[in-house]
Amino acid sequence: MKDLNEIIAEVRGNIAAACARSGRDASEVEIVAVTKTHGAETVDEAIRAGLLTIGENKVREAEWKKKASASAGQWHLIGHLQSNKVRRALEIFDFIHSVDSIKLADRIEFIADDMGALPHILLEVNMAGESSKTGMRPSDVREAFEHIQKNCPRITVEGLMTMAPYSEDPESSRVYFRELRLLKESLEKEFGVRLPHLSMGMSGDYVVAMEEGATLVRLGTVLFGSRPKISQA
Ligand SMILES: *Cc1c(COP(=O)(O)O)cnc(C)c1O
Repeated sequence: MKDLNEIIAEVRGNIAAACARSGRDASEVEIVAVTKTHGAETVDEAIRAGLLTIGENKVREAEWKKKASASAGQWHLIGHLQSNKVRRALEIFDFIHSVDSIKLADRIEFIADDMGALPHILLEVNMAGESSKTGMRPSDVREAFEHIQKNCPRITVEGLMTMAPYSEDPESSRVYFRELRLLKESLEKEFGVRLPHLSMGMSGDYVVAMEEGATLVRLGTVLFGSRPKISQA
């Protein structure tokens, strides 16, 4: 069996090759090591191996894991955020990938103001319109972005996030990743801002995501193996 360092070298090699193919600089890409369902020792192992950005999809699970892990990484929330957990999320996470409504953004702004926090977020977009997934509709992104620009001075929108529909064929994700990039570029143009991040690509389709401009790839299975079916959170 390969150890984590070998796996990371292979993944970084794939990322570098995809960036080279698409004329991108691989240094702008950050791996978000998705440790959900794994223990705190996995977080420590990841950080020792140089994966300094940890992704978790549940606030509660991240809370105990962060306390139990010995090393300091950057923590990213990649799963749905309920409004009653915003305060704890802002205490734990450096980055929230999953802001999917104006209402949630307003809640984050309100709590951040109370805490004196300056949250960094991504707007999550449901590109394929899947009813099983969270994320705002592509057609709602512009309004949400404008609202946050005008009304949420504490929030920095760093870019957009999406999850492609599940498929065995990574190529089927390409159209959604491309459309997310075009959406980001249209916001940049209209509002005269730079949005540095596109969070897209998982274990099955991160190479395609790289080719389409991803800067944050959320990788779990490819790094840590398949997850137990039942979360320990
Ligand atoms: C679990 C999860 C991932 C990682 O998925 P893998 O296929 O294991 O790489 C990425 N993004 C989100 C939002 C997730 O919930």
